[in-house]
Amino acid sequence: MSMDITFLGTGSAYPSPHRGASALVLRTEGDCWLFDCGEGTQTQLMKSQLKASRITKVFISHLHGDHLFGLPGLLCTISLNWSSAPSQTPVDIYGPCGLRHFLRVALGLSGSQLLFPYAVHELEPTPDQCPPDAFLHPLAALPCDEHLHPQELPGRTLTLDSADECYTLLEDEHFLVKAFRLFHRLPSFGFAVQEQERPGRLNTQLLKELGVKPGPVYGRLKAGESVTLDDGRVVTPGQVLERPIPGRKVCVLGDCSALVGQAGVLHVCQGADLLVHEATLSDEHQERAVEHGHSTPSMAAEVARACRPRTLVLHHFSQRYKPAGLRVEEDAGSEADGSKDNGDVMELKRQAEGALQGTGVQVVLAEDFLTLSIPIKRP
Ligand SMILES: [Zn+2]
Ligand SMILES: [Zn+2]
Repeated sequence: MSMDITFLGTGSAYPSPHRGASALVLRTEGDCWLFDCGEGTQTQLMKSQLKASRITKVFISHLHGDHLFGLPGLLCTISLNWSSAPSQTPVDIYGPCGLRHFLRVALGLSGSQLLFPYAVHELEPTPDQCPPDAFLHPLAALPCDEHLHPQELPGRTLTLDSADECYTLLEDEHFLVKAFRLFHRLPSFGFAVQEQERPGRLNTQLLKELGVKPGPVYGRLKAGESVTLDDGRVVTPGQVLERPIPGRKVCVLGDCSALVGQAGVLHVCQGADLLVHEATLSDEHQERAVEHGHSTPSMAAEVARACRPRTLVLHHFSQRYKPAGLRVEEDAGSEADGSKDNGDVMELKRQAEGALQGTGVQVVLAEDFLTLSIPIKRP
């Protein structure tokens, strides 16, 4: 199964001509899962190779506008361009408490009707995810389930499982998706998408030697079933299956200056293929970054150092960092403090790499429309 991730917006705070607001898509066999949906995400989608109509799940890390303001508009546009008959398959939307109400108000007051149902599954934050004054967010306190939007299906309310410090969002034959807590100006979440381990390949040479002919028997063995041959011999999957193929893991963290329930977060993110972490400002501006609930490259590297992903991808850059291809001279010297931070985004990469020296973790800077494929692991 092919798997890749495409960044649609890598800027913080607002969309600019150089960087869209936060959004990325994880694609598996054409199915698209959208993580965050800042303003302008739908036009970024149109510029990409991805199809908005293939979005089946949306994950919102937190309720700041640069991660959310694009969602009502995107849902409406998907509906406008809906070519088939009205669908019965709901779009599942996951995000913090308050998200249901936000969509109900935005879609309801604008008289927006959708050609597909949707359900919002809300994550209940804990008070240690933000400064005390931000926790009693007015939206979170509003009654949730009284007047559903006409196309809205009741969603689940997901609570923290104290055993693993995570929320279980979904589990099926292909994926296990968990959420975990982050500290930010508003309660923020990260998501860990774990592909399920798959049975190894059938050793066809060995099957031939055993006299097993190709046919439905192959499928049964692959599904883990023992089969009895015509001559009474029993062939077990253990005999003819190669080692199972480990699942891939992608972790996408929302805005944060710290992890909450650190042991659980590091456990669920351990050994990820990709760890996507924000780096809003450079190390020189750590104090300002933390004050606003954000991270620097070294702070992101610290998380990566603890959970050892194959690749750390940095994104959510302050709009002062233009994409690497653009001239940075206009910004040079704008800092009067003599720091190395002259608006050169490559400096963020150097800082993360410096902090990860000797770990083997690769650092990648995300840019709008960058696609990273996640290859199948070897057994
Ligand atoms: Zn943000
Ligand atoms: Zn934020």
